[in-house]
Amino acid sequence: MKQMDAETRRMYEACGISSKVLDLGEEVLSELASRFARIDEIAEYNQLKVLAAMRKNRVSETHFAATTGYGYNDDGRDTLEKVYADTFHTEDALVRSQITCGTHALNLALSSNLRPGDELLSPVGKPYDTLEEVIGIRESLGSLKEYGVTYRQVDLLPDGGFDYENIAKAIHEKTKLVTIQRSKGYASRPTLSVEQIGELIAFVKKCKPDIICMVDNCYGEFVQRKEPSDLGADMIVGSLIKNPGGGLAPAGGYICGRKDCVEQAARRLTSPGLGREVGASLGTNPAFYQGFFLAPTVTAGAEKGAIFAASLYERLGFSVHPAAATPRYDIIQAINLDTPERLKAFCLGIQSAAPVDSYVTPEPWAMPGYDDEVIMAAGAFVQGSSIELSADGPLRPPYTVFFQGGITWYHAKYGILMSLQKLVDAGFKL
Ligand SMILES: *Cc1c(COP(=O)(O)O)cnc(C)c1O
Repeated sequence: MKQMDAETRRMYEACGISSKVLDLGEEVLSELASRFARIDEIAEYNQLKVLAAMRKNRVSETHFAATTGYGYNDDGRDTLEKVYADTFHTEDALVRSQITCGTHALNLALSSNLRPGDELLSPVGKPYDTLEEVIGIRESLGSLKEYGVTYRQVDLLPDGGFDYENIAKAIHEKTKLVTIQRSKGYASRPTLSVEQIGELIAFVKKCKPDIICMVDNCYGEFVQRKEPSDLGADMIVGSLIKNPGGGLAPAGGYICGRKDCVEQAARRLTSPGLGREVGASLGTNPAFYQGFFLAPTVTAGAEKGAIFAASLYERLGFSVHPAAATPRYDIIQAINLDTPERLKAFCLGIQSAAPVDSYVTPEPWAMPGYDDEVIMAAGAFVQGSSIELSADGPLRPPYTVFFQGGITWYHAKYGILMSLQKLVDAGFKL
């Protein structure tokens, strides 16, 4: 790999990165060229996939117009949903700003497709934190449990594999829907590859062909060439302030999948009888289209950031998950920083490298639903957007920071270097 030119080096130094940190970063990066090239190949493929869907559906300037009120005949909104469906190879899609976040999208997909007396099964262990209240694993007003939907869970085997024997036993006549979380989220289990998810779905369908298989696709979109919908998922569900929004979508969520499943969700989102016909786009269409267009590239940048962070911190002796050299199926990187001081310093680095609120010092705070204080760094254009460079972690051993995002690779790189710089400033010896 060629040397960084002197002008850029001076710029990094002017931006607060010492030559020692920079040199280490460049050394680590020099070994990542072939990994990055593979990520670029996937982004190239996925860019064509998105473009093919946009060209097929004849996206035009008229689709960027805003509707108000009921939002009848919002051609831009309806065409965007066709673009999502064609990209993810599904019969139908619901892509709306009225779906407020990922949790809402998942709740919508579940609550609309389940009826009292049905059972929901997670064959991949405990789902994402916020789903506990949706399902009623933690008692909550309005949970599926309150509506008479029961829940069953089969944990992953100690090696991360599927416990097929117990999954088969857990499926019975009332099992209506299976939820599979692709990304590890903030858990310690490995993230599932699309191929693994495909195998699991095939097994579940063999046990009971009419089970609806839903995949929580958060943080996984465009990381591989295929999506779970290519390998049998009846619904894939996610947030537009993660990968598919490309950093530009100001809010929103999606459900792509089988026509009947998406129809159920549309009727639950608005109303029986109205379904997808209403829901004014209020001016969000341009950002949704442009964000989706950029999403393969943005996701690739975030993934490079995750690999760079893993490689840099692993080199310094920290325990990182996933390990630097392992294949990667989402954009989240966990690093055990071992002390609260380092966790705070890391977050300070990410924050001070941000385009927004760079002057702010993140402080730990007591967050609803968490036992320990949590510290977060988020200098984002869109509130809470985690496709933008962000980091957070609970103040408890082993002081793990969860790091993700970066709308551009260069920003991710600078943020990671800055995180290390702040560790060094706080007394960490290189
Ligand atoms: C982010 C995330 C969610 C929830 O999304 P929000 O937008 O935060 O509500 C659900 N599942 C996984 C795996 C996630 O990463």
